Amino acid sequence: MSKNHKIDTKLIHAGEPKKRFGGAVSMPIFQSSTFEFGGETDYHDLKYIRLNNTPNHIALHEKLAALENGEDALVTSSGMAAISAVLLSFLKTGDHFLAHETLYGGTHDIINKDLPDLGIACDFIDCCHPERWDEKLRPETKLIYVETITNPLMDVLDLNAVVEFAKKHNLLALIDNTFASPVNYRPLEHGFDLSLHSATKYLNGHTDIVAGAVIGSKELITKVRHKLNHLGGALDPNACFLMHRGMKTLSIRMERQNSNALAVARFLEKHEKVKKVNHPGLESSASYNRAQKLLDGCGGMVSFEINGNVDDADMFISNLTLFINAPSLGGVESLVTRPVQTSHSGMSPKERAAAGIKDELIRISIGIEAEEDLIADLEQALEII
Ligand SMILES: *Cc1c(COP(=O)(O)O)cnc(C)c1O
Repeated sequence: MSKNHKIDTKLIHAGEPKKRFGGAVSMPIFQSSTFEFGGETDYHDLKYIRLNNTPNHIALHEKLAALENGEDALVTSSGMAAISAVLLSFLKTGDHFLAHETLYGGTHDIINKDLPDLGIACDFIDCCHPERWDEKLRPETKLIYVETITNPLMDVLDLNAVVEFAKKHNLLALIDNTFASPVNYRPLEHGFDLSLHSATKYLNGHTDIVAGAVIGSKELITKVRHKLNHLGGALDPNACFLMHRGMKTLSIRMERQNSNALAVARFLEKHEKVKKVNHPGLESSASYNRAQKLLDGCGGMVSFEINGNVDDADMFISNLTLFINAPSLGGVESLVTRPVQTSHSGMSPKERAAAGIKDELIRISIGIEAEEDLIADLEQALEII
């Protein structure tokens, strides 16, 4: 496998065993908790599922590293297992870090509710406005943490400025790349130190497992793997197999999700019953220029406000026939949710108002169905309200 191969080719061939196990064309599941002792001298090299080194783990690690041109990668039992293991690998009591002010709810909760108990402090910053970051720096500031595309308003942050700031102040630059996927953005190519994913979403893509991933240099990934070995958040081999299988179609799924979402966003923007649409591929988006410069595609996520109140929004959602009313995202089927009821219910009304998240905001995760069928479904649901 060469670095010059296209991502579509790497998805199929990277990490596949050099000598096929029993000639199997598809990577088999190694459902064995422990393996024969082979003279290993380091605890972390003993072959055991929790130590993240079964044949299923090794194949996935190589494939993931190839996708974002990292030296190494690690799969974890969930996106939150990846995020918590990474934060605990590089932060200790007395440390401080910076993070973008709107983050995935679980990440926000770890930062606000768990890390303070360990004596780890965070200041939230607006990663679209670099001029105000300096004043939050402290001698004990260790890292900066951002997301590629924010949820639920779909802003693309000033990622080049984040990397430049991190290098200037000797901070680790960490990014949750879940919403972009490796097809639309490869953070290490732009100078980030570690890229994190909830593989539950686009990487697996079939809404049937929970998993996470971290990609980076050999040195950093080894540190995270040793921490994860202690914390215990290993991905089960059966889930490794499903993720491995799901990932093979990532690029064709993303291509369809990118184009479906842009078409849906354009349709909604023109509709008289829709007030505002958030998608970085729309020229009306404040993130449009940054998205064009940084991303290879704008992803499958769209949020919008209709002309109406919360009851109208709920009626619209219940009128939809193809979109399933469920939180989460990134699967082959289209989903719809009202973030205030689901993904953002942990925030107080005051925090949501400050972040510009209205009660009536609707978020959709676009799947790989036919574009015209999705648009027709949205159109009929809007007609009834
Ligand atoms: C879902 C999600 C997570 C958490 O992942 P889990 O697999 O549910 O643990 C983290 N970050 C982002 C951006 C997500 O969408």
